[in-house]
Amino acid sequence: MSTAERRAVPRSLGDDAYRLIEEVMPYPRSITGNGVRQTLEVVRARVPLQVTEVPTGTAVLDWTVPREWNVREAWIAGPDGQRVLDFAQSNLHLVGYSTPVRARMSLAELRPHLHSLPDRPNLVPYRTSYYVEAWGFCLSDRQLEQLPDGEYDVCIDASLTDGALTYGELLVPGSSADEVLVSTHVCHPSMANDNLSGIALATLLAEHLGSRDSRYSYRFLFVPGTIGSITWLARNQDGADRIAHGLVLTGLGDAGSPTYKRSRRGNAVIDRAAEHVLRSSGQPVNVIDFYPYGYDERQYCSPGFNLPVGRLGRSPHGEYPEYHTSGDDLSFVHPDSLQDSWDLLVGIIDVLERDGTYLSRNPFGEPQLGRRGLYRSIGAATDRAAAEMALLWVLNLADGAHSLLDVAERSGLTFAAVADAARSLISADLLEFAPAS
Ligand code: ZN
Repeated sequence: MSTAERRAVPRSLGDDAYRLIEEVMPYPRSITGNGVRQTLEVVRARVPLQVTEVPTGTAVLDWTVPREWNVREAWIAGPDGQRVLDFAQSNLHLVGYSTPVRARMSLAELRPHLHSLPDRPNLVPYRTSYYVEAWGFCLSDRQLEQLPDGEYDVCIDASLTDGALTYGELLVPGSSADEVLVSTHVCHPSMANDNLSGIALATLLAEHLGSRDSRYSYRFLFVPGTIGSITWLARNQDGADRIAHGLVLTGLGDAGSPTYKRSRRGNAVIDRAAEHVLRSSGQPVNVIDFYPYGYDERQYCSPGFNLPVGRLGRSPHGEYPEYHTSGDDLSFVHPDSLQDSWDLLVGIIDVLERDGTYLSRNPFGEPQLGRRGLYRSIGAATDRAAAEMALLWVLNLADGAHSLLDVAERSGLTFAAVADAARSLISADLLEFAPAS
């Protein structure tokens, strides 16, 4: 294929997301430090992200912003002087927040600081020790078993200093001040699905929404897990009730089935919109109830806030063997899965944007649809039947008490078919907007 031909092939959004994941994959992210800043810079090259630095020691709800962690180099050299592990090769090799070390020790002394996964002997685990001072290295169990006895040199040239916690925020204004929150964590080192897939799709969604008019305002948060969302909530405790709907995005690129985790409320509009879009997608999907574990939905759904924030992903975290290991690499995520997650995400946003309650202007008996030309633009016979049903359902439930999402749920039709029917009925003067009081 020539270069010109290759350029002519339209790139999918899934490919675009995949390239973004590839780009930020090597950065040494943690809950603080330069890896987070580098990652946010890549996002900022595409959308006007506002980056906030919150100083170490700041009290945030029941927590305190920790010291900032940065690594210059970290390695272990074996008895023959050769490096057996090196942070420069994979940032998963170093336990996150390891304290500085420069020592020579026997394998027996080193062993308690080495972490592997005996049940998955080829994978390097992801470990952190944010709130307990410790140091350690991670390696495959296969490699651990082959380490010879003898003296080892250990070097962790890292700093744990008063600095800042860094997060990114972007508000894409819509016609309403009510907000849709889209939150993703930015604290994991080199793992593609958890969490770079979330960063990539959130970035592309911000770009997409920035180029069109929307009803809601969209607030994007790129925050280190737990401490980052807690920090944002602490600084925005008063304004948090502007959030009308919200999604935490994570684990969107693996080959597993789409999964939506409901908000703590369980029946919020976002919960119903997400469930409707997933179930209408014609593939196996999982919709699970809220539980107080997982990602930043734990903070948004803590009882004091109780925000209507659910979580969209694919294989649930902890339920795939590559989770939190070196197996969550660039081969574990697929442009097709990213594209499918994108389609679902945009479908959910579309429901939020187009939902509403309406009143029929002709509620006594059915209006005569044929003479108003309402079937004219509809193509194939099957589409025609569904579109006709959508018109009848919308007209019947246009009593000011049922939303279009109610109509879609009750009729079994897709939300898009229902919303399109409402649009046609408005142009035929048969329907008027009646905001729910
Ligand atoms: Zn994780």
